[in-house]
Amino acid sequence: MGDRFQAIVDVQASAQEAGTLAADVRSWLIASGVVSAERTDCVLSADLGYPSGPGADAVVGLSGWSVPWQGGLDITIGRTVFDAGQGDPMAVTCPHCSATIDLLDEDFELSDEAWEPFREVVHGWGEGRDVIVPCPACGRPVEPTFWKWADDYFVFAHLGFMFWNWPPLRPEFVAEFTRHLADHRTVLLEGKL
Ligand SMILES: [Zn+2]
Repeated sequence: MGDRFQAIVDVQASAQEAGTLAADVRSWLIASGVVSAERTDCVLSADLGYPSGPGADAVVGLSGWSVPWQGGLDITIGRTVFDAGQGDPMAVTCPHCSATIDLLDEDFELSDEAWEPFREVVHGWGEGRDVIVPCPACGRPVEPTFWKWADDYFVFAHLGFMFWNWPPLRPEFVAEFTRHLADHRTVLLEGKL
């Protein structure tokens, strides 16, 4: 069994406000005991993360989980492509014309031809470039963050919270989390390594 994560990604936070929002949320999570302040080697997406704290049980659903459990939180600030970690992106939809572009061929492999323009969009975001390509269907230019990826396979953002090996986060907790992010639009991404 691999390591699993749930990520709460703020898709509205700008590069400028990501640091402040991250600090606010970190203070709240530490004050409520959801995580401990002393960082340890407990996450897979960074060297150090915040280990789950004494209040963590209250924000997850423990049914089917063996207790006690231990998870870690990585707060990612700065341009990041969050992804589900396994498999290939299946399709992407244009925000203008709603055409869905299949990215897999008949053998369910990533199609080089269909994927080619998007490869640059995805890599560009991670490297600090906004790569704007025209929609293959309607020809209109599309901002990198406006593409809609099937199953939220990719999420482009400046701020994300990756919970490694936590039981399922309670919906009420995710809702409260979103309020601490100034009610920004968030995406809950799940994946594994
Ligand atoms: Zn289009």
